[in-house]
Amino acid sequence: MLILRKYRIPLILLILAASSPAAAQLRIKPLPVPGFEQRIRKYIDTLSIIDTHEHLVGPEMLSNGFFLDFSLLLLQNGYDDLISAGMPDTLYDELFNEELPPASKWKIIEPWWQNSFNTSFNRIILYGIKHLYGIDGLNASTVGPLSDKIKKAYETNWFDRILLDSCRIRYLIKDGNYMPGKDNYVKYVKRFDNWLILRSKFGIDSLAIQQLDPIYSLEDLEKSLTLAFEKEVRKGMVAVKVFAAYYRTLDFARADKESAKKVFRTLVNGDMDFRISMNDAKPLQDYLFHHLMSLALKYDMPVAIHTGLQAGKGKIIDNSNPEHLTNVFAMYPGLNFVLYHGSFPYGGELSAIAKNYRNVYIDMNWAWSVSPTYTRYHLNQWLEMVPVNRLIAFGGDAMAVENVYSELILARNIVSDVLSEKVGEGYYSEDEAKTISRMIFHDNAERLYKLK
Ligand SMILES: [Zn+2]
Repeated sequence: MLILRKYRIPLILLILAASSPAAAQLRIKPLPVPGFEQRIRKYIDTLSIIDTHEHLVGPEMLSNGFFLDFSLLLLQNGYDDLISAGMPDTLYDELFNEELPPASKWKIIEPWWQNSFNTSFNRIILYGIKHLYGIDGLNASTVGPLSDKIKKAYETNWFDRILLDSCRIRYLIKDGNYMPGKDNYVKYVKRFDNWLILRSKFGIDSLAIQQLDPIYSLEDLEKSLTLAFEKEVRKGMVAVKVFAAYYRTLDFARADKESAKKVFRTLVNGDMDFRISMNDAKPLQDYLFHHLMSLALKYDMPVAIHTGLQAGKGKIIDNSNPEHLTNVFAMYPGLNFVLYHGSFPYGGELSAIAKNYRNVYIDMNWAWSVSPTYTRYHLNQWLEMVPVNRLIAFGGDAMAVENVYSELILARNIVSDVLSEKVGEGYYSEDEAKTISRMIFHDNAERLYKLK
């Protein structure tokens, strides 16, 4: 107070200077009518959402597992940060393999939570606890009541209510498989990584068993991929998902049948437990990747690729650098590629890639909870660099609906702030900002995944 009085005049000048239009951007549009921030915010709050990426565990599965308590909310981001904070793997295994009461789980978790309560992953959990269950904080006295409330909630249609009513999600795309009984709004993408990371005789035999058809040649192996792909097309998959960056580099070399055959022969001639390194298996994996791309092309399927930070621990981050993929983007101009997670931390590279390749979409799913600061910065940059028809805003990449709820609020907040700032500077008009928000939260994904 004393300081304020002492510097009264300079402070007033400072406030005046701050409230005049910023000079950060070209002023193209007339200054907006006051109240634009609230109007943009309200518009974005009421938008229908196409949620492009989730791993949700459905209510039925939850009722048969160990996670229908507070620990549900830690799946998987929260656990990753507990481990990052130092929790030993043995304790993690204990949490996942034994049925423990909430208080015992908390006893294991608490020391590591106290080292990681600060992260964005964990702030998202705290927000959901507070706003959906009315409980402040995660500690020894709250985990019991919170777990009771979670159990009770899941006895109702909580799962659908959070997604459809609270989040206003129109369609949701699940990773891996469809959800029985939720066909009205849950779609799915399918992974074919059993072919893309193949490096053992056992891997080939497993595919053969799955197909009920022996695999004696490279052609048989290709055929097994074709059959699996076509089966999913008939079942209704909306895109191919490439998860390979968890296991190997995204550098897929041009297909070379002879080298692929050589690797195939080495594998089938090996013993049951024979396996080779990812690097030695690469020619075969790369060859099958291109076969997968030819199928995606034939059936007009977008290809969604995990890029950037991998969940879990101890991964090779550079494997997921989207720069490895530029040859693929150039090779398949007729395919649309969706790069997940805003490629964290390769946001700058992603800007340049998406500007150069008109078949590349940026999808910001999960990046909101990885780092709100990153998404704020890069959304600004992507809006300045990439045509808006190829920006997709939201997917929670979550296993619990509570975390989808919180992450979506965070995403709506950040998009509102970024757009309001640009409208305030006269860079976009208020109407343009609304159009952008509708395109990135809904229209672009609806068009790309054919969800009309
Ligand atoms: Zn995911």
